[in-house]
Amino acid sequence: MMILDGKKLSGEMRREIGESVLQFRLRNGFVPVLAAIIVGDDPASKIYVSNKEKACKEVGIESKILRLSGSARVEELLFEIDRLNTDSAVHGILVQRPLPNNCNENLILDAIDPRKDVDAFHAENVGLISQGRPRFFPCTPYGIRELLLRSGIETGGKSVVIVGRSDIVGKPMGLMLLQKGKGGDATVTVAHSRTKNLQEITSQADILIAAIGSPKFIKAEMVKEGAVVIDVGINRLGDGKICGDVDFDNVKEIASAITPVPGGVGPLTVTMLLLNTLKAAELIIKQTQVKV
Ligand code: NDP
Repeated sequence: MMILDGKKLSGEMRREIGESVLQFRLRNGFVPVLAAIIVGDDPASKIYVSNKEKACKEVGIESKILRLSGSARVEELLFEIDRLNTDSAVHGILVQRPLPNNCNENLILDAIDPRKDVDAFHAENVGLISQGRPRFFPCTPYGIRELLLRSGIETGGKSVVIVGRSDIVGKPMGLMLLQKGKGGDATVTVAHSRTKNLQEITSQADILIAAIGSPKFIKAEMVKEGAVVIDVGINRLGDGKICGDVDFDNVKEIASAITPVPGGVGPLTVTMLLLNTLKAAELIIKQTQVKV
């Protein structure tokens, strides 16, 4: 059984990204810049944004954090997004979720210039993925894709079952695995809370991806012998410990490969954000050169 070590891979990838950022700076005379907007005082959001800030620093990407009060009006948020859209010194923009209840999330996410949308939540970027001509991949599914590819796990022709259909994990993961070519070509089933006979479905999977948000939900009897199991879940237990959506101790006895929590998918998500920011800066430069 192979433990899919996302923390180690993330470290390797950050070194590669750091090298690419250095090359970028040598070619262009400036570094990619990521702007993050955080609205309100959600403690988890503050930790996420601070982790992103640290990760940017690690690879030489500049980050700017814009903090708006939880009582900020939607117009104010839209104004700031527009300002960043038109700022040629900013290459990537993200709005940290969750947003306060008065915000229409789709309206906010679609206000970001899709060429700077490094989270890949904008409708245009989602559409491009579904058409098989992606600009950016959303960070968590992108991290899973890299983990599978770099671990030598073939997806072509495999039966992949994803449990969870959220816009940030389950759905885009399904679209990406359906793409033609390497890292795709899978036969994909996306299950959710209304799925009937879930165990019957999950136990057919060559690759099982759990993105549910329910601690240890995937039990050994739901997993096929020799399956690859990817656990996206991050659940905080009563004792403060973190656990995934998979009953790791029992499922690892059956799986051929499995991600731990913590240390599996989680560390890769921020790393892929760094890669998307570098890509956004490169795309913007390419477009400017074409215009000239
Ligand atoms: P959502 O709550 O948006 O989606 C959860 C999905 O699970 C829904 O589609 C839901 O179905 C489905 N589901 C819930 N209960 C069941 C059930 N009993 N049987 C089958 N399906 C069920 O969560 P996210 O996708 O945002 O996140 C999922 C988990 O991944 C969370 O623990 C989150 O913290 C973690 N996460 C980790 C990241 C990382 O970097 N590692 C990044 C993002 C998320 P329905 O649609 O019918 O309600």
